[in-house]
Amino acid sequence: MISLLVGATGCLGAAPGDDPDDTSEVASAVSTSEGFEAGTKAAYAAAAVTLGTGSWNLDDALIGTTTSDVLTGTRSGRIRNSGKITMLFDRSTGAGTVTIHHAVFGTDASGTWGLFSSQNSGSTWTQVGATRTASGSTFSTATFTVNLAGTIRFEIRKLDGGTNRINVDDIAVTDFGTSGGGGGGTGAALSKHTTMGIPAPASSSTPNAFLSAKSGYVESYNASRKVPNWVSWELNSSYLGSTARQDDFRVDDTFPSSEAQAALADYSGSGYDRGHMCPSADRTLTVAANQQTFYLTNMVPQAAHNNEGPWAVMENDLRDLANAGDELFIIAGGTFSASSNTIGSGVVVPDKTFKVVVVLSSVGQGVSAVTTSTRVIGVMMPNEDAQISQSADWHTFRVSVDAIEAATGYDFLSDVDPAVQAVIEARVDNQ
Ligand code: MN
Ligand code: MN
Repeated sequence: MISLLVGATGCLGAAPGDDPDDTSEVASAVSTSEGFEAGTKAAYAAAAVTLGTGSWNLDDALIGTTTSDVLTGTRSGRIRNSGKITMLFDRSTGAGTVTIHHAVFGTDASGTWGLFSSQNSGSTWTQVGATRTASGSTFSTATFTVNLAGTIRFEIRKLDGGTNRINVDDIAVTDFGTSGGGGGGTGAALSKHTTMGIPAPASSSTPNAFLSAKSGYVESYNASRKVPNWVSWELNSSYLGSTARQDDFRVDDTFPSSEAQAALADYSGSGYDRGHMCPSADRTLTVAANQQTFYLTNMVPQAAHNNEGPWAVMENDLRDLANAGDELFIIAGGTFSASSNTIGSGVVVPDKTFKVVVVLSSVGQGVSAVTTSTRVIGVMMPNEDAQISQSADWHTFRVSVDAIEAATGYDFLSDVDPAVQAVIEARVDNQ
């Protein structure tokens, strides 16, 4: 059973469900993404065409390639009259969100259109969300929240019936149970700390992907490993004050007792630091905010050379950006394997620690401000003293977000427009 993602704070802190085997493993970031690049169809008459994702029927619609077509790449869909573009295949993994780029063809009048879904292989259709208006000569992104499990396919219908033509392109569908899409996504609905999206499903009923949304950060916690899967937080100057480090490392008293946690004794003498994911020094406005970072549920066993070396310097450098006025969204956690070390009563030591950072230029900005030029920093650092020098420069550990997604199975920045994600997640920061 897939657990429906968050959004409701009512589930926070509730007792977990009674199925300990339901670990609700991470969502793959699998999605359907159709850009019309693989097909050819020059006439409006209804016909099927094979595209990159499968077979689609284009009725009173064609694949536009002219200079009047608004497109990404060299092709896009063009629809006239009451035409439609229809998937002739099903997705079996449901749909979380659908995003579609849309614009008017040439100098035609604005046109209205809608997205329809079918869960019975096209026998009956239901409109998803509101009718949209294509009104510009450059693409706008339409985002639809679907959140339906199981078999599903989609159809785009032009609804105004006029002879004016519209272009659509870059149809992106995320799996049910993952966040995704354009602005105002699932992440922001949960917390400002997950503004960029939720990296993988988490809920109060999944012990190994246990959702904890705190005032200072949001995390998915893994009871089998006794460490977080990922911790996500916003950082800007409003979180930074003069509160001293409280150093009150402790069990997380907001968690239900059924959610297994590390104890202080597990770390004692283990050879590993109690490594904060959301750093103490990122939360210095109030005593309470700082104390919240000392829950053991915000820690992983971290090699001293990593934690006190490049990891710490990077944290400092990010705070410098925040103090200079930037808005940062940070996600941190570990990578694991079958041979990961353990300490104490089975607290699993990450093979590497990772961090994903989105750097925006002014406080209050969100996913809509993220463009293909937005600075995104990914790092993965070895988590054994023998494998990392404490004096190493953190910049040498930079990798693409794609590489961290491959290592973790998470989909970072999942509420950012998929076309933008594709660019910023492939790039390795070099600033
Ligand atoms: Mn295209
Ligand atoms: Mn991503």
